[in-house]
Amino acid sequence: MADNSQMERLVSLAKRRGFVFQSSEIYGGVGSVWDYGPLGVELKKNLKERWWRSMVHERDDIEGLDAAILMHPRVWEASGHVAGFTDPMVDCRVCKARFRADQLDQMQCPQKPSKIPGEADQCDLTEPRLFNLMFKTFMGPVEDAAAVVYLRPETAQGIYVNYVNVMQSSRQKIPFGIAQIGKAFRNEITPGNFIFRTREFEQMEMQYFVAPGDDDKWFEQWRDLRMQWHVDLGIAPDKLRLHQHSADELAHYAKVAFDIEYEFPFGWQEFEGIHNRTDFDLGRHQEYSGKRLDYMDPVTKERFTPYIIETSLGADRLALVVLADAYREEQVKGEERVVLGLNPAVAPIKVGVFPLVKKDGMPEFAHRIHNDLRGSFPTFYDDGGSIGRRYRRQDEAGTPFGVTVDGQTLEDETVTVRHRDTLAQDRVHADQLVSYLLEKLAG
Ligand code: ATP
Repeated sequence: MADNSQMERLVSLAKRRGFVFQSSEIYGGVGSVWDYGPLGVELKKNLKERWWRSMVHERDDIEGLDAAILMHPRVWEASGHVAGFTDPMVDCRVCKARFRADQLDQMQCPQKPSKIPGEADQCDLTEPRLFNLMFKTFMGPVEDAAAVVYLRPETAQGIYVNYVNVMQSSRQKIPFGIAQIGKAFRNEITPGNFIFRTREFEQMEMQYFVAPGDDDKWFEQWRDLRMQWHVDLGIAPDKLRLHQHSADELAHYAKVAFDIEYEFPFGWQEFEGIHNRTDFDLGRHQEYSGKRLDYMDPVTKERFTPYIIETSLGADRLALVVLADAYREEQVKGEERVVLGLNPAVAPIKVGVFPLVKKDGMPEFAHRIHNDLRGSFPTFYDDGGSIGRRYRRQDEAGTPFGVTVDGQTLEDETVTVRHRDTLAQDRVHADQLVSYLLEKLAG
């Protein structure tokens, strides 16, 4: 069952606390484009860094890459996007809106009955037409067909066209992988659900190059590793599942594909795809560029075009998974509190620092603590409003610890450490605070 109100409450919290804002809001917003505010940018950065660390820094067999968004237009002919990256669309002649034909219920315009007073309720749909999802623009001073370039609809192609460069410069041998984080753009027709489906988004993709014949083994390994990564991130395992693509769902390039799905408030949906792309991509780039992209095994001297196992995760969709999974409303001593139970490792702020009152030297002591702590982790100082309100603001921000300077601090230099989830309070000496918190954060 879709729970719209839960989604609305999450969107409202995201705005209130500065995670996500609608793009160009003062102009009425722009369709399905979102901006990350002070807390959102930290959360997304933490997620990207965690992914990068596990893919690139903690492994010997994966190299990083940051390819440009604009690429030679032939890339998108070779990849199949110019011809095939289309959704069949229908227009409603009455309300002028456009919809994906495969998402319509019995070819009925979803805006009927109309909510606009006086507007006709009959539905008059066009035949489905193909619509290319790539954003086009022009390169250079002349705006004609010869100058057309595309905003990349996926980051993967930047990896394929650089695979020989990366392999030779890093002296990798197959099997090895290339990881990249970057923006992608799709002129989605039925976008929505907040940051779930947007027109500008970020992908975290890893392409693993293997010998044909080893592809099934590597595919299974990567599928399982990726699922485990989300469990380790702290996502509730009962809200995660794998969905295998049936023959009619498989993309033109794929031999096997699994989606990792999360149970969002609006239902089970994909947020990461694992694909066995075979030798399709390198084969096509070989054909379109005329350059050799095959590989010679240094031992057997055998030549082959590598198979590619792809893991493709949306950074924005992952942020939505993390926010939706962390969002809780609970009763504490008869009062409702809203908490983001974020994994401390990805929480935007790790510690809030509060003087109990703005007098008696408490703000000075709290400032000193804030300065001590901020060298080790993101910290937030707050002396505005009652202590209860300040705690609640940090609960909504997902801050795992709160440090309060009170009357006793001035006597013995101990402070209270409040734990977001258990609400337990520990008394810790100010000198031991950094090591105490570092230990808790590591655990
Ligand atoms: P969908 O069926 O939802 O359109 P897809 O199968 O086309 O997705 P892929 O091309 O496999 O998606 O992209 C891999 C990942 O990139 C997705 O799992 C998702 O996390 C992310 N992604 C794709 N399109 C969007 C989008 N419009 N907005 C946000 N993230 C996206």
